[in-house]
Amino acid sequence: MIGFTLTDEQREFRDMAHKFAEKTIRPAASEADEKEEVPWDVLEKAHQAGLMTYSFPERYGGGGVESVLAKAIVDEEIFWGCAGIGSIIGGVALAATPILLGGTEDTLSIFRAQLPKTWQSLVVGTFPMSMTASHNEVLERAMQVGQEAERRRETKLVDTVVTNAAKGRAGVTGLEGTLNAVHQGRVQTLVIQEGLRSPGSRCEGCGFVTSKEFENCPFCGGRFKHIPDSVELAVRNVMQSGGDVEVLHDPSPLNNHESIGALLRY
Ligand SMILES: [Zn+2]
Repeated sequence: MIGFTLTDEQREFRDMAHKFAEKTIRPAASEADEKEEVPWDVLEKAHQAGLMTYSFPERYGGGGVESVLAKAIVDEEIFWGCAGIGSIIGGVALAATPILLGGTEDTLSIFRAQLPKTWQSLVVGTFPMSMTASHNEVLERAMQVGQEAERRRETKLVDTVVTNAAKGRAGVTGLEGTLNAVHQGRVQTLVIQEGLRSPGSRCEGCGFVTSKEFENCPFCGGRFKHIPDSVELAVRNVMQSGGDVEVLHDPSPLNNHESIGALLRY
């Protein structure tokens, strides 16, 4: 069930904002409208009351109120006082948000720490940009950062595959070893170099795909049929068994292992 009762804290915010709107904003609103002037004394009082900064992080001198609902409750009261003055008070956030989003390294690391865990892992990089940068410039730089991150991820993946295979622990490299693991359903992540193709044979009995010449299938004794590309079949089998397939676009140490390998489930 959804409750619509405000918490004690929310009621406190609402009453404070309402009182400020009633006592300070309303009496000044019509005069500011008529003279077309900014009522600086009202803004000064709003600042002193914390109405401009309550939603910013405490380490920047804000009130640390993160709840969007609390902001809505406060805004409703302030704008009841005067929509124009309310816009100026609320407009402070418009200027502060880019600083929170795009400030210095220090600011960014603080900002990142405040993101939910699932979001933190999605941030692949940051970059400084001029305020006057065009949409295309920002996009181009973002793509570059994205590609660099992708390259780092691929390098790390290949390292893990090669290391695990060398230790004989949940990793395999080389075409035949990988095809065996695929047949046994052990492949969690198949890693191949882009464009890799290799002819082979497929058992008509159990579907085992191999790059070798066997008289009979070592798994079921069945007969083999020639296939033009064993890699393509391996990719399909891994995907059907719920595994992942990573295609490498740059040369990597995996090229010394017939350009194919895998992380294994066990
Ligand atoms: Zn077979």
